Amino acid sequence: MQIRDIRATTVTVPLEAPLRHANGCHWGRFVRTIVEVETDDGIIGLGEMGGGGESAEAVFRAMKTYLVGRDPARIEEMRFLIANPTASLYNNRTQVLAALEFACLDILGQAWGVPVSEILGGRLRDRVPFATYCFFRYPNPKTGCGEVRTIDQLVAETRAMKQRFGFSTHKMKGGVFQPDYELEAYRALAAAFPEDAFRFDPNAVWSTEQAIRFGQAIEDVRNDYYEDPVFGLNGMRRTREMVRIPLATNTVVVNFEQLSANALNTSVDVILLDTTFWGGIRQCLKAAGVCETFQLGVAVHSSGELGIQLATMLHLGAVLPNLSFAADAHYHHLTDDIIEGGLMKYEGGAIRVPEGPGLGVKLNRDKLREYSELYKRLGGYPYDQDPARPEWTPLVPNDRWADPLDDRAPAIPY
Ligand SMILES: [Mg+2]
Repeated sequence: MQIRDIRATTVTVPLEAPLRHANGCHWGRFVRTIVEVETDDGIIGLGEMGGGGESAEAVFRAMKTYLVGRDPARIEEMRFLIANPTASLYNNRTQVLAALEFACLDILGQAWGVPVSEILGGRLRDRVPFATYCFFRYPNPKTGCGEVRTIDQLVAETRAMKQRFGFSTHKMKGGVFQPDYELEAYRALAAAFPEDAFRFDPNAVWSTEQAIRFGQAIEDVRNDYYEDPVFGLNGMRRTREMVRIPLATNTVVVNFEQLSANALNTSVDVILLDTTFWGGIRQCLKAAGVCETFQLGVAVHSSGELGIQLATMLHLGAVLPNLSFAADAHYHHLTDDIIEGGLMKYEGGAIRVPEGPGLGVKLNRDKLREYSELYKRLGGYPYDQDPARPEWTPLVPNDRWADPLDDRAPAIPY
């Protein structure tokens, strides 16, 4: 079997409402690049990467000179071919490799008639549990609905998501407003659902001292972990010395060099494995093996996904022996998907691992066309800017917070 063609299509798919975070905002939609790798016997494998546009599509076109004529089963060799760790000083293609790895695994699963999880060692579970992703949100620019700014709105939205999807773990995304306001909000959430588990993530924008202050103030909450309160391994280490909650990261341990540093001198207790950031599902599995050896926790991270990427997260979650936390997903904020059958369904807070061959998802070509057209009409958006504060520059550590009394709805093209 040989790779014959590689195609990339940028799409943008609407969210229920714009999601606010420490560095800016998802402006009411995700932009993703859908990758198709086709073999000489007509099998099409699917991949997905965050962001998109002409430059992303050109990168995948350029990979044809490396990969056309190669065997899609040689995935480990592909890693060195396009993302050799020493050559990556010139060409950092970790995320490109990830999308192509997804596609090659999808091809192999289809060729061999087995789900990707069977190639990766075999599933240990049929469903992967997920957490509510509680964001502060601007109202939907079309409908005016969906705002989450006040603490009452946060609790009400979380209650609605819990009822609709069955979640019993809730992740709150902070770093938007003054930390004392977010502390009050997090504690209100914990008080509203006393049976449930919680995690807080301000996207690493606090000072170490602020991280310690906030961490000590939530020690009595039923926390899974405290995620990236400060940027950098040393800030995390200093926080860990002063706060009695496991610390987690998806920012400062995202490769094997950082993982070895963290094993030798521990700063973080739980490593959040992102199939894109680590360069593929198999790299995540290798990292999980290191974590198992050093008795560090692991969980499945979400960097914003459509159904293809979600499938990679489900197959990863299915085979991790040391998965002891609910996975993250932005998925329940989406209004639609580009896969056949539409959005995957949550049952009791979990999603069933696809059982079809490969990743077990197929492209809905009409949806791909529709959301590719929408991307052509709307273009990209500046993920690291706040549409309501064009003059704002977030510092690290940040002290330039949004105002929770500011109820303006920014004009966002939709
Ligand atoms: Mg995070």
